[in-house]
Amino acid sequence: MPLPATDRVLLGPGPSFIPPRVLRALSAPVLSHLDPDFLPLMDDVRALLQRVFRADSRSLTIAVSGTGTSAMEAAVANVVSEGMRGVVIVTGYFGDRLAQIFERYGARVRRIEVEWGRAVDPQRLRDELSREGADVVGMVHAETSTGVRNPVKELAAVAREKGALTIVDTVTSLGGHEVDLAGWNVDVAYSCAQKCIGAPSGVAPLAISGPARERLVRCRSFYLDVKLLEDYWVGRKYHHTMCSSLIYALREALLMVEEEGLEERYARHERHHRALVEGLTAMGLSLLPPEGERLWTLNTVRVPAGVDEAAIRRTLLTAYNIEIGAGLGPLAGRIWRVGLMGASSTPETVLQFLAALESALAVHGHRVPNGAGVAAAGAALRPSMAGA
Ligand SMILES: *Cc1c(COP(=O)(O)O)cnc(C)c1O
Repeated sequence: MPLPATDRVLLGPGPSFIPPRVLRALSAPVLSHLDPDFLPLMDDVRALLQRVFRADSRSLTIAVSGTGTSAMEAAVANVVSEGMRGVVIVTGYFGDRLAQIFERYGARVRRIEVEWGRAVDPQRLRDELSREGADVVGMVHAETSTGVRNPVKELAAVAREKGALTIVDTVTSLGGHEVDLAGWNVDVAYSCAQKCIGAPSGVAPLAISGPARERLVRCRSFYLDVKLLEDYWVGRKYHHTMCSSLIYALREALLMVEEEGLEERYARHERHHRALVEGLTAMGLSLLPPEGERLWTLNTVRVPAGVDEAAIRRTLLTAYNIEIGAGLGPLAGRIWRVGLMGASSTPETVLQFLAALESALAVHGHRVPNGAGVAAAGAALRPSMAGA
């Protein structure tokens, strides 16, 4: 099997494009996990993660060896134990996965189920916690299956008021939407490398607040035990053989996030999301979530009546080298998922996607106004192009 010969245009739910600088970092010589030249790079990653999460100085910020799901499991495994009362907000596929992991670690879980495509109303959490308390509340900030952003700031405030710890999934928001663990009083948060951060999957950011560090439970998993991981990251004691290449890449990607600036990065993701929405609207297409609940990083587009969802995705891939995602669960066949994350959130990806989508729709017999998507998105992008 030959290696890929072209740059696939990665506009799915992750992974996103990896900037050339990060690819070069990956090819630096391997160092061992306790090499004196390697340890300062891990310290850099801890400090960079603290800043991108906006966590305070009492927090522990590390990267778990594994994909986002490994950090998700680490978050739960160190905070949840047999018999604990858990409340999990389920607004889509990843909320459901979080609830399942709570259950595997023995929590008695009450789910707050929300229609797929809508954000949760914080009043529902307040009502649930007033009815019966909870030890831990789990929630997904950016629900990648539906394109919805949940109001974590408000939800975390309710949980804090009611004395529950919070676990927040920031896999599709960190580096693309505002995340402010200290400002929002979030206890535990996790993310991944391959969505809005711009490194390959395989190491996953995890943040544990000062108060949460006092309340860690005896972790049933050896590999994911935060105390053992801290002994390695901070105490320099062998636990597992960290992949140095992935740390180089994550560090480089986080440095790029910092050079761009968090506020500017959020603004870039918003700008390209808005241009995409203008283009889609001009083509007669619509998004699943209502305005105000939408992610900038992952756009869920309704498949028009009579159009074969999978056929369009296939044409985009084979004729235009563009990857987008399919709907999951109840949304299978009904939506496309278009990711504009990290280095994949650019003016050129927006225009390229809209042009290719118009053509793919035409190939399959669905006509839209000629060039309307590109024209509308181009007009939306123009103010930010002054001087370019
Ligand atoms: C992608 C994703 C995950 C899982 O991450 P992996 O890297 O695929 O393990 C978890 N939560 C959300 C919200 C995601 O989008």
